[in-house]
Amino acid sequence: MPVLLRPAAVFDGRDLHQGWAVLVENDKITAAGPAAQVTLPAGGRTMELPGLTLMPGLIEGHAHLLLHPYNETPWNDQVLLESHALRVARGTVHAQRTLLAGFTTARDLGSEGAGYADVGLKQAIDQGIIPGPRLLVATLALVATGSYGPKLATDIDVPQGAQEADGVDGIVRAVREQIGKGADLIKVYADYRWGPNGTAQPTFSQEELTLIVQTARSAGRGVVAHASTVEGMRRATLAGVETIEHGDDGNAEIFKLMKQRGVALCPTVAAGDAIAQYRGWKKGQDPQPPRIKQKHTSMQAALKAGVTLAMGGDVGVFTHGDNAREMEQLVQDFGLTPLQVLRQATSGNAQIFHLADRGSVRPGLLADLVAVTGDPTQDETAVRQVRLVMKGGVLYKQP
Ligand SMILES: [Zn+2]
Repeated sequence: MPVLLRPAAVFDGRDLHQGWAVLVENDKITAAGPAAQVTLPAGGRTMELPGLTLMPGLIEGHAHLLLHPYNETPWNDQVLLESHALRVARGTVHAQRTLLAGFTTARDLGSEGAGYADVGLKQAIDQGIIPGPRLLVATLALVATGSYGPKLATDIDVPQGAQEADGVDGIVRAVREQIGKGADLIKVYADYRWGPNGTAQPTFSQEELTLIVQTARSAGRGVVAHASTVEGMRRATLAGVETIEHGDDGNAEIFKLMKQRGVALCPTVAAGDAIAQYRGWKKGQDPQPPRIKQKHTSMQAALKAGVTLAMGGDVGVFTHGDNAREMEQLVQDFGLTPLQVLRQATSGNAQIFHLADRGSVRPGLLADLVAVTGDPTQDETAVRQVRLVMKGGVLYKQP
């Protein structure tokens, strides 16, 4: 049945329009514009949404549906002590919370030891078995041998949080295995904390990273890189990854290179903030820990260089459904405007992730729509006031 949505205003992915209406038929948006120009076909119904702003379903850029907050259970213990069945059971709840928070799409960047369970979660959502966002899944993720964790005594080999692969043959094989099992994209750790005294150091060589990108691209998949060091970010950028996750130690030079090569930064400020607080930082009372200070320095450099920003918080490190935390912190702690952040979370992420069928309110696009109280283009906290969630024309929440 056609549905005519009549909110107070529509944010179309770019700008706010007062007095617009949006028509949904089946799973698509078929009209959007001034209310007087959008007419309801016979047999349809009207939903009045007074006081609400209707906008595209939000897109989470960096999630781990198979993790839960590290202050509940440390990452090592989740990987080593929790069964896949337990982790999947949690994952179904995480998926539902994500959707009801207004995030109708999420990039899930690694199952962190839970095998290909992300592919199964995606199938369960797509088949309508459980509610959840549309997923882009990375599956196992790739790490260089010896670089990742968990690490126990040297005598004991334990399952790792990602797939180890090295060298030409090993890398080509691992990328193809992951794609064959259902990876929508490949995630690679370009550096990790395996340096002297646990410092972050590059992992894969330039040649290996370039080969990962070439192998994935030939199968129509993009690559995203975890990287925080300048050298890791440089190699990943030169290899041709699409986004760099975290980028905490980035400087003016590397952000300039990313800008030149069209590589976006997904800064995950909320994860760093959460981890610092798990380690005892009392935000607002204590002085900023060095890692947080450094994040402010690097974000300043990224903003100055004009690097494209993706919106993704590394949710899973903190509570699923609290995805808006990243958006709020980008405004409150890093000086972006609510409008900038809202564009990133909708049309911006859609463009970076090659999702031409969503991220805007426009005829022909998927009817992934969210309505919130107030004006999220002026007030970053409004994205938490979710009153309506529609995905593919199906209502999951309504006033
Ligand atoms: Zn992550």
